[in-house]
Order: sequence, then C-alpha cells, then structure tokens
Amino acid sequence: MSNKNIKKGFISCHEAGNICDRSQYKESSLWERIKLEMHILWCVKCNAYVKKNSMLSKLLKTHADEHSTHHLPKEKKEELEELIKSEK
Ligand SMILES: [Zn+2]
Repeated sequence: MSNKNIKKGFISCHEAGNICDRSQYKESSLWERIKLEMHILWCVKCNAYVKKNSMLSKLLKTHADEHSTHHLPKEKKEELEELIKSEK
C-alpha cells in the first residue's frame, strides 16, 4: 500500500466514519471534526455518508422535539426508510 497520498493529519475512511457517528452524540472533539471536514473535502464516499447521517439525526431530533411519541408522520417515515435503504 502506498502512503504517497496520505498527508499528515489526514484520516482513513474508517476513522472518518467513526468520528461522524460520534459527532451525532456530541462525543467528538473539535480537532476530530476538523479532521473529518478535511477528509470529506476529497472523499466523495464519506461526504455522502456524513450528509446522510446528519440528515438522519436532524429527522430524529425534529421528531424528539415534537414530543409526538407515537407515530412518525408518513412522509418522515418514508424518508427514513429511503435513507436506511440507500445505506445498504
Ligand atoms: Zn473517506
């Protein structure tokens, strides 16, 4: 494996995914988020993953804020299902 393209401070896709997941629970540090931002500048795959993840957490947050504990609105449920499907 060549390290030519790996510059100091750059992280792997695996690490980027890790930080992204933890960011949702506010468990990542500022430096980690900066590294993630740098990573998604050039990595299309992780860029899409981060976008999908933040969309999903926004949806879930909205749901929690509404205190509508019983049912998700139909459109939101479909949106979530789409997200989950496209993840596979
Ligand atoms: Zn990546």
